[in-house]
Amino acid sequence: MNKKDCDIVKDLAVGYAENLLSSNSKNFVEKHLQNCDECQKYYKAINSNIFNDSTIEKNKDKIEIDYLKKVKNHINVLKSILILVLIFSIVIISLLTIKYCTISNVINKAYSKIEYMRNLDNYKLTKRTINKSFSDSNNSFDVTFTYYYKDGKYKIEYGDNSTTYLEDDGYNKICVYDDLKQIEYYTQNFVEIKKGAPINIFYDILNYKKLYPRLYILGLSMRNDSFEGKDCYVIRNGNEDSYKDIWIDKATLTTVRTVSEEKSKYYTEEIYTFEESATTDEDVDNSILNTEKYQDYTKLEINNNATEEIELYYELLDKNGRY
Ligand SMILES: [Zn+2]
Repeated sequence: MNKKDCDIVKDLAVGYAENLLSSNSKNFVEKHLQNCDECQKYYKAINSNIFNDSTIEKNKDKIEIDYLKKVKNHINVLKSILILVLIFSIVIISLLTIKYCTISNVINKAYSKIEYMRNLDNYKLTKRTINKSFSDSNNSFDVTFTYYYKDGKYKIEYGDNSTTYLEDDGYNKICVYDDLKQIEYYTQNFVEIKKGAPINIFYDILNYKKLYPRLYILGLSMRNDSFEGKDCYVIRNGNEDSYKDIWIDKATLTTVRTVSEEKSKYYTEEIYTFEESATTDEDVDNSILNTEKYQDYTKLEINNNATEEIELYYELLDKNGRY
């Protein structure tokens, strides 16, 4: 065997193993390998090394691919979470927007109704208050106020035995006490009542509309319920243990009831009726006090000159709603 050939074959062995040789060189190497044990051994050793190298290379690639796959999976999981969070946020924001719009819409409509009622020239308004105090039974009561209003004149009945006659922007007031059999004629230096002032009795709606920030609406809740056969929106401020519910008649958009309760402390219910054009001239005519029925009543003339503070108080009441 030519020793020089062996050197050449060893030089070419790597190229042969990786199949990179020209066909002449390849034939030459093959022929030599068939006849030379030494070169055969050398070639086998190189070939297995190359094979090992390529497996390691392949393994490395595999590890890299696996890693990339893992990263991709992580990214996919993050993407899914992000999409879920996004969908969740959109759902929540939509629900809040719907809630805000629904409650605002009812408050706005009820407020417009109040504005309308204020300008009426004839109505009858009653408010019955039922109060139960669980800590102090002396503080429990059930009383009804009735406001008769026609063309600037009022008759206001407080419970069973007290009646007041007065006029819009007027300086006179007459109070009748049936239990005392007494009539008091007041001359005042301030205006006690302005047109539409009794309508401020619906101060809850006024407060929601005017005083609270807009986002406060989201703290309220609304449900549908019926009261005395009337379908109502019920707007709740508070929770199970302490709340105020305002019942708004869906047909007339007038407040027909409020319920406030603090569990085991008190329960207050106010029931309202409002009738347009239900007051007659006789209802608000104080000349009835000159009739025989009132002959034996004591009559008092009272000069009720109020301080500036009282005038301001009445002005504020008219602005923010009477309680
Ligand atoms: Zn050889």
